[in-house]
Amino acid sequence: MRLAFDDVKAGFETEADVVVVGSGPGGAVAAANLARAGMKVVVLEAGPEVRPEDMARDTPRFLARYFWEGGLRIIMGTAPSPTMHARCLGGGSVVNSAIMLPLPAWVRREWRAESGVAHFDGPELDAAYARVFARCRVAPTPQAVWGRRNHLVRDAVQGVLGESGGGLPRAVHDCEGSSDCLTGCASGRKQSMDRVYLPEAESAGAEVFTCCQVDRVLTRGKRAVGVEGHVVQVPGWQKHGRFRVYAKHVVMAAGTMHTPVILQQSGINPRGLVGATLFCHIGGGLVGIMDEVVDPWVGATQGWGAISQEIRGLKYEGLWASPAALMVRWGDVGRRFVERLDEVKRAAVIACVYRGDVHGTVKASRSGDPNMRLWIPEHNVAPVMRGMKRAADALLALGARYVHTGIVSVVDEMRTPADTESMLSPRVQAKHLAMTMNHTFGSCRMTADDRGPVDPNGKLRGLDGLYLCDASVFPSPSAVNPQATIMALSDITSRKLGGLSLDEAPS
Ligand SMILES: Cc1cc2nc3c(=O)[nH]c(=O)nc-3n(C[C@H](O)[C@H](O)[C@H](O)COP(=O)(O)OP(=O)(O)OC[C@H]3O[C@@H](n4cnc5c(N)ncnc54)[C@H](O)[C@@H]3O)c2cc1C
Ligand code: SF4
Repeated sequence: MRLAFDDVKAGFETEADVVVVGSGPGGAVAAANLARAGMKVVVLEAGPEVRPEDMARDTPRFLARYFWEGGLRIIMGTAPSPTMHARCLGGGSVVNSAIMLPLPAWVRREWRAESGVAHFDGPELDAAYARVFARCRVAPTPQAVWGRRNHLVRDAVQGVLGESGGGLPRAVHDCEGSSDCLTGCASGRKQSMDRVYLPEAESAGAEVFTCCQVDRVLTRGKRAVGVEGHVVQVPGWQKHGRFRVYAKHVVMAAGTMHTPVILQQSGINPRGLVGATLFCHIGGGLVGIMDEVVDPWVGATQGWGAISQEIRGLKYEGLWASPAALMVRWGDVGRRFVERLDEVKRAAVIACVYRGDVHGTVKASRSGDPNMRLWIPEHNVAPVMRGMKRAADALLALGARYVHTGIVSVVDEMRTPADTESMLSPRVQAKHLAMTMNHTFGSCRMTADDRGPVDPNGKLRGLDGLYLCDASVFPSPSAVNPQATIMALSDITSRKLGGLSLDEAPS
């Protein structure tokens, strides 16, 4: 059953075996497993359901309606950067590019060594990936829907640099290559949580409430006993009635930023570790303006990619977003903006995503929004800029008129290899990196000992009945896109909680 604003605006009180806070990749998997295990499940999601007719190309309107802080959220610190967090049924899975990659073997070994959690590098995680990949119909993006843009990125990264890659595995069935992933997928091809796991949870009896924002976890002694919050209306997020859900178990899946904030606001912060860490992938993007007309809006949003063999922890991806989103960095102003508008049809975009050894924090602000800071060590600049210079040289070798990065202290329009040398200058510092940090994790780390607030069963230390099933449990960055690992770890935690088998075959 799915309840929307009109059904609940006056407020309500109810009971369940489990209340799941947040309906993104982590929450949706947990809800489906726990409902299938026979528990009475209530899912509370702060955002609304996005209907296909609202998945239009009007990006600024879409961001305002379906992203936290209108899509204008910033992570402060060394290089203040935008970070986008969806606020809708299905969370990030509705707006993301659906890339599904398991952790590389070396990251799994590192996670196990640094956290002591055996299943990070054990057969339980292999089995969980297999179930999640089967359910989301993950398959490599077919070449037929790459479009010219992804072919050019392949020619640059694989053809010129020799980095071997391929059509990225994505949770998409029969992709049309419309390049609209950021504003949902109106044709229903993307296997986002509102289409895959949540309907399954509902069929097994779960109640899914949208427009219900949790403020606080309720506790009695050393036990979580439910949550409370208020009903919100879109647009404007005005507060309406209050709600309380009492439950034997609380599963937090409000995402890297909101899970620690809700816990902090509830006075739940064992040894000050909740929100005491934060990790994000860093990197940058390059726009190559080609002689040919590329029509970059044709082709899968992020259809081709390669994990670098040359620079450990770096990944190259073809990328697209609407010009309204891309040109925030690249657009310039006045006459130059108008000239660049005319060049958009010739653009090929490469994103370089890097697993640095950054560290940060998430703290609840007075308004209740998360306040994030991230520090990037200077030694992380060299690998990022080396990867970006290689990609820029490759685009020039393919005949790009110029390549642009949006990084101050780098030549604005690089037309020759001599120009791209500016990317390796010591004048480029961590504070100059120009990126959007959409891969965020690790604000409540899972560890075998008490260095992290979450134990290997996904339970918060020091409080019974409270589990974490989202990106906040990562012990460090994943090096690849995180959704597959968030879902697989949530699958393991919720199966343990619901008493389901950890080696069940994919269905
Ligand atoms: C543009 C973009 C592209 C991306 N592309 C990819 C990709 O291709 N592949 C990939 O692996 N990753 C990608 N990511 C990252 C990925 O989407 C996230 O890592 C993932 O969605 C995180 O899952 P989660 O369950 O931890 O949290 P979320 O997806 O953030 O879900 C949390 C949910 O909780 C809700 N919530 C928050 N606070 C409250 C509250 N107080 N009360 C009730 N509900 C609340 C939120 O509204 C949200 O729906 C992308 C991200 C973005 C923004
Ligand atoms: S590229 Fe288009 S059809 Fe393919 S998943 Fe994204 S929005 Fe859907």
